[in-house]
Amino acid sequence: MENIIIIGSGPAGWTAGIYAARASLAPLLIEGAFTAENQELGTLPMGQLSLSSEVENFSGFPFGSIQAYLDSAIAHNRKDLLPPREENAQGISGAELVELMRTQAVHFGTRVVSDDVVDVDFTGSVHKLIGSNGNVYETKAVVIATGARANYLGLSSETKYKNRGVSACATCDGALPRFRNKPIAVIGGGDAAVEEAEYLTKTASVVYLIHRRDQLRASKIVAQRALHHPKIKILWNRLTKEIIGNDNDGVTGILLQSTAGESDLTLDVSGVFAAIGRTPNSGFLKGKLELSSGGYIIRTVPFRTNTSVSGVFVAGDVADEHYRQGIAAAGSGCMAAIDAERYLSCPDARLLSETKTQTH
Ligand SMILES: Cc1cc2nc3c(=O)[nH]c(=O)nc-3n(C[C@H](O)[C@H](O)[C@H](O)COP(=O)(O)OP(=O)(O)OC[C@H]3O[C@@H](n4cnc5c(N)ncnc54)[C@H](O)[C@@H]3O)c2cc1C
Repeated sequence: MENIIIIGSGPAGWTAGIYAARASLAPLLIEGAFTAENQELGTLPMGQLSLSSEVENFSGFPFGSIQAYLDSAIAHNRKDLLPPREENAQGISGAELVELMRTQAVHFGTRVVSDDVVDVDFTGSVHKLIGSNGNVYETKAVVIATGARANYLGLSSETKYKNRGVSACATCDGALPRFRNKPIAVIGGGDAAVEEAEYLTKTASVVYLIHRRDQLRASKIVAQRALHHPKIKILWNRLTKEIIGNDNDGVTGILLQSTAGESDLTLDVSGVFAAIGRTPNSGFLKGKLELSSGGYIIRTVPFRTNTSVSGVFVAGDVADEHYRQGIAAAGSGCMAAIDAERYLSCPDARLLSETKTQTH
């Protein structure tokens, strides 16, 4: 029987691990499994932030050379798992930042298991989590920090060419020979779409940003970067009708229809990157606790991390369709661990957790 189990291995999960371990709760963290399915979905252990090549907005990590610090903080056997740093790279990458979080959590005593939780039983006072290999984990308290994953368009041609020119992760795939020095399309108009497009300009010959409206949804400062980038060409009022390709080459083009009455347009591109939002990783929780219509976990107590089940707390993007930032996820991981610690030690906190005041 565990005191507390944390499910998920992004900033929220590791920060919950740091706080729970420092509160002497000896947490167990289930980080996800290294499977082909998780690779395809973008839900491999270490979470979404580890897909980001540069993290400029996590406070405490300004530009500067931090190689020596990374060398001293991260264990040798884990260092080999990190993507290589570019020569003279400044600041920190997402993979390095999440690795530092993991190191810190493990340093204080967080134990880590590589497994996916595929089902839960929250009906008794002891919570049971069922792993993908049939393992049953029993615990008094749970922090769910399973994050969210990228959405795709849902076209059959998109499925056909996944990993053959269709991707949802520029940082993972942008540097592959398939995309290098070739024209690429990014679909979407929010912050993530602009980030993906900007990232791809490092390797692609030109990046078409395809948006179905006549202005970007991205925040002003991010949108300005796209509008003025010499390698980004924005195509307004366009929907993706088909991804074009063949068995030998994979993706060779994209067919776009107009939302403004213009004729269809075909672009020659070697890659199509979907950047059209996220799905919370909460499928295994359906019917087990309260979820929003979009699948986000509902927090039931104002300014707390309680869920509709006593002793089950939530942190990070799986409950957050608004902020979706690493630092916000880390902050809520801290809050969830503190709420869980109080739940375990204080009967009043238990009562509070049973108060069902909806905040969403
Ligand atoms: C390309 C990209 C760039 C980004 N850049 C930035 C940036 O520069 N700055 C910033 O602040 N934010 C950035 N973000 C957003 C940031 O990555 C997320 O807000 C943050 O990672 C959310 O953290 P999280 O802990 O909630 O979940 P995640 O990081 O999504 O981690 C959750 C992880 O939990 C595991 N998991 C999921 N389901 C299960 C299960 N059933 N059982 C066990 N384990 C499971 C998986 O390994 C999953 O990856 C970026 C996101 C993307 C996609």
